[in-house]
Amino acid sequence: MTQPNGPVPRPGILDIAAYVGGEHHGHIRLASNEGALGPSPRAMAAYAAAADTLHRYPDGGSSALRGAIAKRFNLDADRIVCGAGSDELISLLIRSYAGPGDEVLYSQYGFLMYPIGAKSVGATPVTAPEDGLTASVDSLLARVTPRTKLVFLANPNNPTGTYLPASEVARLHAGLPANVILVIDAAYAEYMNREDYTAGEELVERFPNVVMTRTFSKIYALGSLRIGWAYGPAGIVDVLNRVRGPFNVSNAAHVAGVAAVEDTEFLERSRAHNETWRAWFAAEVQALGLTVHPSVTNFVLVDFKGQAPGKDDAEAARQLLKGRGILVRQMPAYGLPSCLRVTIGTEAEMRAVVDGLKAFLAG
Ligand code: PMP
Repeated sequence: MTQPNGPVPRPGILDIAAYVGGEHHGHIRLASNEGALGPSPRAMAAYAAAADTLHRYPDGGSSALRGAIAKRFNLDADRIVCGAGSDELISLLIRSYAGPGDEVLYSQYGFLMYPIGAKSVGATPVTAPEDGLTASVDSLLARVTPRTKLVFLANPNNPTGTYLPASEVARLHAGLPANVILVIDAAYAEYMNREDYTAGEELVERFPNVVMTRTFSKIYALGSLRIGWAYGPAGIVDVLNRVRGPFNVSNAAHVAGVAAVEDTEFLERSRAHNETWRAWFAAEVQALGLTVHPSVTNFVLVDFKGQAPGKDDAEAARQLLKGRGILVRQMPAYGLPSCLRVTIGTEAEMRAVVDGLKAFLAG
């Protein structure tokens, strides 16, 4: 709301509904898709050891972190850009390539930062309906117009937990005009174990209009440090480096990020934990008669649709869980009001959610 006689923002800004993050006050926090096991002990130690550099500006080029990422993923360090979370890179891409009158296209249940970024520059967010809860290449391509500047594909997607196989991502890219950027937002890539999945590196290598974004906030569990990275063709990387803030990633984030990416043993443990407890949780919740949408990520959508009257109310279930100190995410902002999104946490946390859901259905 603007104050009477106060400054007025650019057109479109007041159409933005502010992003509301997962709640913070509760002892079981399963609302923000944070890694269940917390950060790698090596990352925590590196972070603590960085305390005596707090007075120093960080390396503005993030060179050590880019080097560690490049080594780990076999990429060209010069074509990596680090940011304050992948959110920053998403915003910078939109800010650099779209403006008033342009369109930013994404899938129906895509991540909320895409429309926020589009509206903040006066561009129009355009959504393409999905097939069930999975992005549809045909539906996306049908909505490309001469004004489309960027297409965002979260793969896997938050909040649906679904993904498109590599062949479909390639088909999406092949159908786009050369002046449209395809951004593959692979925030949850490390959780994937499917043969037909790719985070998109090979498309980035081959084409001047594909960018992949990644994050340290999910499996690496460093959300608080705000570290994301983009891998792109030289032209787009150059643009991102021109527009980003000069010191957009802190020194503590650099050293913790390097330690995290090098700790492959911890990563494997986190991935295995997620597989085990996602499968367990899905089976338990299904046994209660609720629908669990299949997920390849570290969260699942529990759907209350079709339950008996009173028991079909996802918001009431959320309130009950909250009363037990368990925070999960309600989904109306994404157009999925009958669902709760539950992050896969520790064994004790998952057992507590199942107990809470049992109590809700029995009550
Ligand atoms: N993309 C997707 C699909 C996400 O779910 C998230 C986090 N919720 C992000 C990007 C942004 O993550 P971060 O800014 O922490 O890197």
